[in-house]
Amino acid sequence: SGAKVVVIGGGFGGATAAKYVRTWSNNTIDVTLVEPNANFISCPLSNLVLGGSRRIEDLTVPYDNLVKRHGVKLVRDIATAIDPQKRTVTLGNGTVLPYDRLILSPGVDFLLDEIPGLKRPGAGDRILHAWKAGPQTVALRRQLEAMRDGGTVAISIPVAPYRCPPGPYERACQIAFYLKQAKPKSKVLILDGNPDVTSKGALFKKVWAEQYGGMVEYRNQHKAVDVDVATQTLKFEVQDDVKADVLNLIPPQSAGSIAVKTGLATANKRWCEVDFLTFESKAVPNIHVLGDAIQIAPGMPKSGHMANQHGKVAAAAVVSLLSGRPVDAHPLYNNTCYSFTSDKEVVHVASVHRYDAEKKTMVTVDGSGGLSPAPNTLEGTYAQSWANTIWADALA
Ligand code: FAD
Repeated sequence: SGAKVVVIGGGFGGATAAKYVRTWSNNTIDVTLVEPNANFISCPLSNLVLGGSRRIEDLTVPYDNLVKRHGVKLVRDIATAIDPQKRTVTLGNGTVLPYDRLILSPGVDFLLDEIPGLKRPGAGDRILHAWKAGPQTVALRRQLEAMRDGGTVAISIPVAPYRCPPGPYERACQIAFYLKQAKPKSKVLILDGNPDVTSKGALFKKVWAEQYGGMVEYRNQHKAVDVDVATQTLKFEVQDDVKADVLNLIPPQSAGSIAVKTGLATANKRWCEVDFLTFESKAVPNIHVLGDAIQIAPGMPKSGHMANQHGKVAAAAVVSLLSGRPVDAHPLYNNTCYSFTSDKEVVHVASVHRYDAEKKTMVTVDGSGGLSPAPNTLEGTYAQSWANTIWADALA
């Protein structure tokens, strides 16, 4: 058709959308993917780098196949501005890319104004979030390796919604898994901004009590409001200060800054509201927003699994819209989040979501979904297969 689609962000949502717009248009739509990173690095399984059973290389997938097999034009740069009237994207190097439809999957950025200490020069190098897999993941692992036996690792969790609800609790398991072997006198302190464990609560609490007896301590209602970097001390809205040897501070999040800057983040100035039939922004026409950046419907987590499915629904809609065909009115998708409680044992939570035409939103299908009864090694193999499969679906 000669139509032009630009995709911003080569993560779970954007890579999937880029591949499937090409595939489902029989390679007739021109797709340019803008992504600053040389390779895709998966957040799923990245907690296992902290636990020591995976290396970052095990989670790294090149973009080559999108280019070679699917004919996606890959531009290694950052999108700095979008002009919705002219329908153009400006890149860091000044190039201007025109589009008929824009697909935006920029993931999250951090609301540093809510933790002012993190804005001081150098703070971000010392107090790590490791909430985007890559150099920070490796650096946090080094901090754990350098810590003395008997030290405290504190994980600060923001008030929901944030990327990957069970992720911080999986991380607590992985850090405890490492410390139990290497520094058994140490402690993992979970400082949760929420009233309770946001996902798989009973399962995680049982693991902490039984498998890592005494090492993991959970404290709810600990909303971090500042950090003193020099003394590695966290400050909270209500509770007393906490000092830690390793401080993993996961700040509150919003849609990636390019989405906010373009006026797409209409919900709480943080998340982008979309029409779930097409993922087109409710604020700005011809821009489709996917993944963690969107305002989710109840029960829909901010997960890679979800972003992959957003990518397919949006790709199908974009191909239809650019070809003058009707858009599918019945999107149905599922979600599975696996969490590793050790190097081999896993628990999962699953759900199914359908479009409700009356409510014009996604709803959880009655009676769908489920939860593991207990951590088990069979699901450990499933979880690794899930990762291999979704990386291939998005990138191969
Ligand atoms: P991302 O995958 O983050 O992709 C965004 C991309 O956009 C990035 O590559 C970024 O470089 C690029 N970008 C941003 N701004 C620009 C710009 N201006 N110009 C160009 N490019 C830009 N999910 C699961 O389903 N299962 C799990 O087991 C799981 N475990 C997790 C564990 C951890 C520790 C974490 C942190 C997350 C986990 N997740 C998991 C969540 C999952 O990683 C996210 O939900 C998913 O990455 C969201 O996809 P996305 O496309 O929205 O964003």
